[in-house]
Amino acid sequence: MSKVYMKEGKLIVPSNVTVPFIEGDGVGAEITPSCQKIVNKAVELAYSEKKSIEWMEVLAGEKAFRQTGEWLPDTTMNVFKDYIIGIKGPLTTPIGGGIRSLNVALRQALDLYVCLRPVRWFKGVVSPLKEPQKVSMHIFRENTEDIYAGIEWEQGSDEAKKFYKFLHDEMGVTKVRFPKTSSFGVKPVSVEGTKRLVRSAIQYAIQHNLPSVTIVHKGNIMKFTEGGFKKWGYEVAETEFEEQTFTMSYYQKLKKDLGEESAKAAMAEAVNKGKIIIKDCIADAFLQNTLLNPEDYSVIATLNLNGDYVSDQLAAMVGGIGIAPGANINYATGHAIFEATHGTAPNIAGKNLVNPCSLILSSVMMLEYIGWKEAAELITSALEKAFENGDATLDLARFMPNGNTLNTDEFTNRILECL
Ligand code: NAD
Repeated sequence: MSKVYMKEGKLIVPSNVTVPFIEGDGVGAEITPSCQKIVNKAVELAYSEKKSIEWMEVLAGEKAFRQTGEWLPDTTMNVFKDYIIGIKGPLTTPIGGGIRSLNVALRQALDLYVCLRPVRWFKGVVSPLKEPQKVSMHIFRENTEDIYAGIEWEQGSDEAKKFYKFLHDEMGVTKVRFPKTSSFGVKPVSVEGTKRLVRSAIQYAIQHNLPSVTIVHKGNIMKFTEGGFKKWGYEVAETEFEEQTFTMSYYQKLKKDLGEESAKAAMAEAVNKGKIIIKDCIADAFLQNTLLNPEDYSVIATLNLNGDYVSDQLAAMVGGIGIAPGANINYATGHAIFEATHGTAPNIAGKNLVNPCSLILSSVMMLEYIGWKEAAELITSALEKAFENGDATLDLARFMPNGNTLNTDEFTNRILECL
């Protein structure tokens, strides 16, 4: 068993690497083997015998519950901690029980603070946009803070009453319209939480030679939380990446001090020098702009809730959840779990209908993350070839003018051929 490990801030990847995986519930049993076959073949073609992946199953979800009585056994957590990287299929959210969501539990245990979702369009896939080829975005969604931190109290509970009493008596808050029947939630957004997310987004833009990072927020309304996110985001760029970036906050300052012409000239010079433009956009305007001018955006850095909405809209613009990959990453420790972003799809589970692309593209992200770019490119090209030819599972093929509907096994075989 060969583990990935971190040394002096760098990921060290053995040539025969063990990758822990969670098969996943529902359609997980179909997409996981499909993905593994394709990855194995791509690695073999790219590196002959020199590199290989050994898959190691770990349990979570219904399979874990059936076999061990636990939804997320400690051994699974420990293996992910130990092996640094892993991949997972979708998991059922247990109803009742102590765990709110298995995905959230995994993210919290490993402090996976970035949810990375690359969004690109494949030629042949039907999109609601006129020019989907202009979509190439990389969403960095903050994964540990915001209203999603799970700090909330139900209306009528003792905790909600106590919380309101504190707000009213200690903090002088009189703006709660219906205090007796209000539930309450808390939205923590910190300097460290923001900075590590925006730092990762900028580093990613540098590594991938991307033109801009847009900080997406609602700071116009939530001044200290989302407004803080914007302010601290710009600070990271200005203090840690002065050489590589040009911020719109600096542009505004130049405009005020020296006039618009000088500010424009400074920005043009920065673009010429290949500097990354750091800008910001209010979340609602951003959702509209991405539909109208998707080419204006590249890397997106945003808070947890905004990131949730943004991810789904952008996924819909290029073919929907069947084809949307994702990863949860802690760039400081190296821990990363790659995952299908959709759920267990119980309505089609076991019917050989599911589109395995979300997990396949997540494995492409994993191969890129460990530096096995040649294998990643082989898979991407194979998918491009298949889609261009109209070969796809039902969810995509039904909208394609030249659609050739394949079941999950047939699609998997088609990709293996295209490799
Ligand atoms: P879902 O994503 O499972 O399904 C929504 C719709 O999309 C369904 O019609 C489904 O058939 C379709 N769909 C999803 N993935 C597809 C694919 N790869 N190919 C073709 N069609 C696909 O969402 P849901 O029904 O709301 O949730 C079902 C279960 O999954 C719930 O228990 C939920 O909590 C869980 N869930 C897990 C994750 C995760 O593990 N990351 C994410 C979302 C939901």
